[in-house]
Amino acid sequence: MTRLAGQWTADNETRPAPAPLDRVQALVNTIDIEIAQDRFALVEDARPWLVEQHLLDAGVPLTEDGLAHVRAVREALRALLVHNTGGPPPGAGHLDVLREVAAAGRVRAEIDDHGAVELRAVGPSLDERLAGLLVVIRDAQRDGTWSRLKACANDDCRWVFWDQSRNRGGSWCDMAVCGNRLKNRDFRARRRAAR
Ligand SMILES: [Zn+2]
Repeated sequence: MTRLAGQWTADNETRPAPAPLDRVQALVNTIDIEIAQDRFALVEDARPWLVEQHLLDAGVPLTEDGLAHVRAVREALRALLVHNTGGPPPGAGHLDVLREVAAAGRVRAEIDDHGAVELRAVGPSLDERLAGLLVVIRDAQRDGTWSRLKACANDDCRWVFWDQSRNRGGSWCDMAVCGNRLKNRDFRARRRAAR
């Protein structure tokens, strides 16, 4: 372990999404881009987290290729969340990564004791487990909560936050810190351009 629990930025999420959407947020926030702290840089850091999140079966090894794939899925999901903040739609490369996960996944309908029907991804492989997140996204897209999960509009940050603002118009993970930093930078750039 290169870092103890509680020392990763996401261990102290300030604007957490409600369950189960918090699982998507947690995956994308495994990297703090601003301080270059990546839980998926090393297998030894990534593996226990993926098992804890039920994205990896405890009996399945995590290869370097598998880890690189999870990193690609993470950035593909971030591309969707950048779009939720008003950024460009996800590119073909990002969509291909998610389509790969979708193609490898298997989903089964289950009926609980109250008769409620739920979709669940089945299978032990990494992609089959990741497909479970696609079910979460699909449900959120239908119930309208998906658009409130956003990637920070600051290019240097891109932290994923739950938009709690009344008009759903939030763009920054933290207006006081990230929003002001960005505004100051833009202000300086405009002043330079004006000179
Ligand atoms: Zn931010």
